[in-house]
Amino acid sequence: MPLISVAVPVPFLDSLTYNVPDSIDLPPIGARVRVPVGRRTVTGCVVQHDALVEEGTDVKNIAEAVDREPLLPASIVELCRWVAEYYVAGIGDALAVAMPPGARGKATAFKHQRVIRATAHAVEMVRLKADPTVTEKQRAALEMLAAAPAGIVSTDLKDRGVTAGVLAGLSKRGLVSIEFERDERDPFERAALGNVAPDAARELTDEQRRAADELFALADAREFRVALLHGVTGSGKTELYLRLAARVVKSGRQVLLMVPEIALTPSVAGLFRGAFGDRVAIQHSALSDGERHDQWHRIRRGEVDVVVGTRSAVFAPLDRPGLVIVDEEHDSSYKQEETPRYHGRDVAIVRASRERALVVLGSATPSMESYQNAAGGKYARITLEKRVLDRPLASVRLVNMRQEYADEGPDIVISRDLAAAVEDRLTRREQVLVLLNRRGYSTAVFCRQCGDSFECPNCSVSLTVHRVGHRPVPSEHRESRGWRARCHYCNYSVTVPKVCRKCAAPYLEHAGFGTERIEEQLRERFPDARIGRVDRDSVRRKGALTRILSQFGARELDILVGTQMIAKGHDFPGVTLVGVISADVGLGLADFRASERTFQLLTQVAGRAGRGERTGEAIIQTLYPEHYSIQFACRQDFPAFFEREVAYRRGMRYPPFFALVNGVVRGRTFEDAMQLAREVVRRLEPATATGSFTILGPAPAPLGRLRGEHRVQFFLKGTRRAEMRHALMQVVAGMPEIRRRLTIDVDPLSVL
Ligand code: ADP
Ligand code: ZN
Repeated sequence: MPLISVAVPVPFLDSLTYNVPDSIDLPPIGARVRVPVGRRTVTGCVVQHDALVEEGTDVKNIAEAVDREPLLPASIVELCRWVAEYYVAGIGDALAVAMPPGARGKATAFKHQRVIRATAHAVEMVRLKADPTVTEKQRAALEMLAAAPAGIVSTDLKDRGVTAGVLAGLSKRGLVSIEFERDERDPFERAALGNVAPDAARELTDEQRRAADELFALADAREFRVALLHGVTGSGKTELYLRLAARVVKSGRQVLLMVPEIALTPSVAGLFRGAFGDRVAIQHSALSDGERHDQWHRIRRGEVDVVVGTRSAVFAPLDRPGLVIVDEEHDSSYKQEETPRYHGRDVAIVRASRERALVVLGSATPSMESYQNAAGGKYARITLEKRVLDRPLASVRLVNMRQEYADEGPDIVISRDLAAAVEDRLTRREQVLVLLNRRGYSTAVFCRQCGDSFECPNCSVSLTVHRVGHRPVPSEHRESRGWRARCHYCNYSVTVPKVCRKCAAPYLEHAGFGTERIEEQLRERFPDARIGRVDRDSVRRKGALTRILSQFGARELDILVGTQMIAKGHDFPGVTLVGVISADVGLGLADFRASERTFQLLTQVAGRAGRGERTGEAIIQTLYPEHYSIQFACRQDFPAFFEREVAYRRGMRYPPFFALVNGVVRGRTFEDAMQLAREVVRRLEPATATGSFTILGPAPAPLGRLRGEHRVQFFLKGTRRAEMRHALMQVVAGMPEIRRRLTIDVDPLSVL
C-alpha cells in the first residue's frame, strides 16, 4: 500500500496520511491531490512518500490526483516544511504561500483573454465599404480590426466603443473570428516600471570596487554565506547588486532580488529589467492573479535568470539560485502579519543555506539582528561609508516643538524653520519631501460640550477622521466637504455629523493631525506650489502610486507629503529638503522596537535629500529632541545607535539576545479569552522546568479588542526556540478547540 503524507489547508495541522489506490499512479512530491477531510474533499499537496502509520489506523484513499508532474519543486516543499515548523503553522498554510495563485482550487483560476480578428472576407468588405447589410457600428469595428491583423483584445475593443452586441452580430455572420489566447501579461509595462538602461561605462567608485571584489569572491566560492552590505543612503548599493547579479547569472546560476515593495522602489526593478531583459520575472502581490500566475510559470519552466519580488518571492520556484539579495533588509514589510507569520529575510537565509547560495542583506540602517550577526562574525560585513561622487549626507536640524508651541501657540503644525525652508526651496525650484507617519486628517474628533467621541464599536481604538468628497480646491468650495471617521483595523466607518450626536451642540473639534491635514496646511501656505500626497488612502486606486511618484520624479510636483511610504529607497535627485513632522509618532508605542524603528525611519527619510548635485537638508520636528534615537538619526550615526540600543536589548533580555514568541488568544468576552489563555499557559508551564524559557502573561493585549473579539496575550522568552516551539505544538495538539482562536507569532516584529 503506497502511503503518502498530504498537506491540507487546515490551521496548525500537520500533514495527513492517505493511501494511493491501485487505480491512481503514485503522485510525486509537490503534486496536488484531492483528499477527503471530514466530510469535505479538499486540494492538498504531497509532501512525503512512504509515510508511516500506527498499526490498525484507518487510512483513507486519496480521491484524485490533480497533477502528474510536481507543481512545486521538492526543494520548495522542503522549505515550506521548515517554515511550518519554525513558525508553528500548519504545513498546508505554509505551502499555500508558495503556490501560484489559483492553484489551491480544483481548476486554476487562470483566464485566457479573448482576442478578436477580422476574417479575410471581412477585410475585403471593409475595403469595399459598400455592403449595405453591415451597420455603421459594425463597419467601424471592422475597420479597426482590419488595421490590426494580429487582432485586438476584446476589452480594448470595448474601450474603443465596440459593444458585445456589435461583435456578436459580426461573429454570427463569420466576419470576425474570436479566439482565446494565453495572455502573457507584462507586469513591467502595466506597472510603468519602465526599462532603465544600465550605464555600462560607469566606473565604480573605489569603495564600490572594494565591496564588489569581496562580494564577487563570496559568490564565486559557491558556498552558503551571508554578507551584510551596510552602505549609507546614496552609496550606490543598487549598482553593486546589478554587477553581482550579472556575474552569478553568467556562471549559470539564478538570482533572487527581494525588495520591500516594488511600487515604492520601481527604479530597482526597472534597472534589473534593463540589464536582463526578458530573463527577469517579477513577483509581488499588487499583480493580478493572472499576471502572477504567468510569471510563476515562467520561473517554473526555467525561462528566467532573475526574479525580482516582494516577501513571498522567497518561494519562487527557481532551480538553481546562486544569489539572494534582500534589499532594505531591515524593512518590516518582509514580515508576514498573517499565518504563516514568516520573515522573508530569514526564510531567504534558510533557503540559501540549503542551496549553497550567497545572501546579500543590503541596508543603510540594518536590523539589530543582522548587525549583531555581522558584529559577531557570523555574517561577512561590507561597508560603504560614503555617498557616490563625494556627495555629502544631508545636514539635519532639529526643531523642538515644545519651544515652538510656547512661542507660536498650541495649534502650530509646521514650524517657522520648516516653513521658511520650504519657501526657500520653492523659489529655487527645488523639491521637498514632507513626512508624517500618520495618515488621515485628524486622529480623533470629539464634542467640546459633552465630550462625546468616535470610538470603533469593534476595536479598542478611536476612529481616524478622513476627509471625503473633497478635492483640494480653493477654499470657497469648502462647505461641500464632509468627514468620515474610520477604523484602520476593521474598516468600520461612520459619517461625522455637523452637530454632536449626543447633545446636538455644533462644537465638534478635531484633535491631532495626519497627512491630509498637512497637505491642506501646505496648500494654504503655498498656494502656488504643486503638491502631491502618498499614503495608503491616496494610492488606493490601481496605478495611483506609480503616477504620483513619476510626476514627482519628472518634477511636475514641488512637494510630496506622505507616510513612511515616501521614506523608502527612492532616488529623486531634485529633492534638497526633507521635513519631518512629529518624528516621535512611533516612540509612544509600547513596543521594544520603537526606538529602532524611529531611528531607521528618520535616517532613511533624511537619506532622500541631496542625492543630486545640490546638498540636502533635513528638518526634524519633535517633542523629544533629546531622545537617543532622534539624536543618533540626526547625526546619521548607525554604529553609535547600535551600541546604545544593543545595551538596552541585552539588559532587558530582548532580541537579538533572547528569542520571543507571542501568543494571542481571542474570545467573545474578555473572560472567555483570559480563561483559555490561562489554560494554555498552565499547560506550557511544565516545559519551562528545563530553564530554557520563561512565560510572561497572560495579560490583556495592548489592542484589547479587534474586530469584535477580545484579545489576551502571553510571551515565551528564551534562548532555544526549538524548545518553545515544541512546547507550543504539544499544547495545540492537545487542545484542538483552540486552533481557530490562537495566533502564534515567532520572532514578532510588532506586539500589538
Ligand atoms: P543606495 O541604494 O545605496 O541608496 P543608489 O544605488 O540608489 O544608492 O545610488 C545613488 C545614486 O548614485 C543613483 O542615482 C545611482 O545611479 C548613482 N550611482 C551609483 N553608483 C555610481 C557610480 N559608480 N558613479 C556614478 N553614479 C553612481
Ligand atoms: Zn475597528
